[in-house]
Amino acid sequence: MNQQQIFSRWTSWQARQQARFTDDYLRSGQRFARRIWLPRTVGHGISFLFLAPILLTQPLSAWWWLVLSIYAFIWPHVAWLLADRAANPMAAEQRNLTFDSVMGGVWIGAIGLNALPSILILMMVNMNNMGAGGVKLFLVGLLLQAAACFTTIAIINLPVDITTTPLEMWVCLPALLIYPVFFGFVTYRTAINLAERKRRLQLLSTRDGMTGVYNRRHWEHLLHNEFDNCRRYQRISTLLLIDLDHFKTINDTYGHDVGDEAILAITQHLQLTLRTTDVIGRFGGDEFAVFMTGTSVQSAIAAMHRVHEHLDDYRFDSAPDLRVRISVGVAPLTPQMTHYREWLKAADNALYKAKKAGRNRTEVAA
Ligand code: GH3
Ligand code: MG
Repeated sequence: MNQQQIFSRWTSWQARQQARFTDDYLRSGQRFARRIWLPRTVGHGISFLFLAPILLTQPLSAWWWLVLSIYAFIWPHVAWLLADRAANPMAAEQRNLTFDSVMGGVWIGAIGLNALPSILILMMVNMNNMGAGGVKLFLVGLLLQAAACFTTIAIINLPVDITTTPLEMWVCLPALLIYPVFFGFVTYRTAINLAERKRRLQLLSTRDGMTGVYNRRHWEHLLHNEFDNCRRYQRISTLLLIDLDHFKTINDTYGHDVGDEAILAITQHLQLTLRTTDVIGRFGGDEFAVFMTGTSVQSAIAAMHRVHEHLDDYRFDSAPDLRVRISVGVAPLTPQMTHYREWLKAADNALYKAKKAGRNRTEVAA
């Protein structure tokens, strides 16, 4: 491959990574907009119900009623559509929240700064702003609410009276209870979803995508712990490296799909034959690694003997004449080892010995 080909492969790899990143960002923005849709719909509906009786006491034209009704009942759905279809849903939703701040200010102005309902509107809008956009959106929102409120009062020349009558107070009280509980419920659901996503990501980052056993990085991390624990508590443990014999030839003769099937067959046989306490990892292309806590070399060899036997009996539907064989290097943990890599090295040497001695066998480290 010449330099130009390498460069063009590299740039196309970069473009793919960028596309994947953009895709993830788009979808997380769409999820964000969907999460906000329900609290916005419920919050606006509740607000309208408790504000309508207070608005009736103000000298407002029919146009104002129309605008505020559209905002309460239609805007939550339009806001979601706008964000969902935007090229950048996250930014679109921030704009929607900013608009909510302006409209919150308009409502407060329209009810002439009536104290209790004004505090209720401030609570709802600012809970949303702080929850969705942090301190920055909260502060920007406060400024916009104040500006919109005083502009509304100035434009319509409304009477300002902060007194809340007992009846108005009783109208507001249910909302004071319902909205925070509802907000808490949405926050709780978001936290549960995030915890589930974290668990799935953790699982993905520790597993080999094809076989489902531990990937090399995580398996080595577990081996490191095993090494430390066994030394501290003087426990025995045995390490095995397992490699398919002549796997390149299997790939070349039967094709990569059958090669993949062989890798999956080995994984299945290891999982079904070994104990659940034995820790299996995929170490490389056709190489697996296992450590067996509290297991002697003899027991480990006996276990691998069973795996050899099962593999001998195994037939592939797509290649009935194919026999998969493995070579195994076995290394017990010894007191002389000062680092887990020495343990791995011992198993690797034993595997090399098994390959050199003709393959399809198990060898123990010297
Ligand atoms: P040996 O007996 O000495 O181990 O010979 P080998 O042919 O098995 O040699 P080696 O272990 O070095 O070969 C590994 C081959 O495995 C190279 C690569 O093409 C193939 N391989 C690695 N990962 C995969 C995979 O996920 N699927 C398939 N089908 N082949 C893979
Ligand atoms: Mg091999």
